[in-house]
Amino acid sequence: IVRVTDVTKHFDLGKIVVEVLKGIDLTIETGKYISIMGPSGSGKSTLFNMIGGLDKPTSGKVFIDEVDIAQLDAYELAWLRCRKIGYIFQTFNLIPVMTALENVTIPMTFAGVSHDESLERGMELLQLVGLEGRHSHRPSELSGGQQQRVAVARALANNPAIILADEPTGNLDLKTGEDIIQLLKTLSSSYGVTVISATHDYKMLNVSDQVVWIRDGRVDKIQERSELEIRTGGLGTVEAEP
Ligand code: ATP
Ligand code: MG
Repeated sequence: IVRVTDVTKHFDLGKIVVEVLKGIDLTIETGKYISIMGPSGSGKSTLFNMIGGLDKPTSGKVFIDEVDIAQLDAYELAWLRCRKIGYIFQTFNLIPVMTALENVTIPMTFAGVSHDESLERGMELLQLVGLEGRHSHRPSELSGGQQQRVAVARALANNPAIILADEPTGNLDLKTGEDIIQLLKTLSSSYGVTVISATHDYKMLNVSDQVVWIRDGRVDKIQERSELEIRTGGLGTVEAEP
């Protein structure tokens, strides 16, 4: 379970303080597929950084399986980031001097997986995302969508319990985007992985157990699967924002 309690985040820019998150409360059950939707600049990526332990809230707490992540020491936090959470970033964050395969194997190297095993699993993961012929390419030699798929493969490397995906289909063509959504859905429904995805992709709503709408740093509305089905009328397309 991921629990966010009254999280605020302010950025102090000297002359002005930007209040980005203004008190977010959220409970995400294990194995659920959650979509976080909201306008550009509403604070989705900032919230991700808080949930993923990549940045600290100004106030409020984030609990992962009832552990307050602000209380973790450096080693425990590294373990959380490396073993428990898989990240897919909006800007990919691949390492430019490394090949696709090397990028995918980094989390496994950190986790102590043997070199041979990580290479083997890395190739499997690249195959899973449709990049088998691209393992020796550097990020600059890949298209945006291909880089995103490398990022997806890297996120899966250590079989994380939680996947935090920021616009995972943002740079993909329709077909590849649908494949990635299906892959994430299978991870949650068949393997109990908790998927938390920030997205503008309405197709994502069709597979979501819950949709959290963020507006101006606050939770505007939370919709459950059952409500989504009513709204989609069985056609699988959801209307515009509430
Ligand atoms: P998008 O859909 O465009 O990705 P978002 O909902 O992910 O938007 P965030 O990236 O969380 O939005 O940004 C929310 C607001 O916080 C923006 O107005 C942004 O300028 C501000 N912000 C984010 N990070 C910082 C920072 N490090 N310093 C100052 N302001 C920041
Ligand atoms: Mg964002």
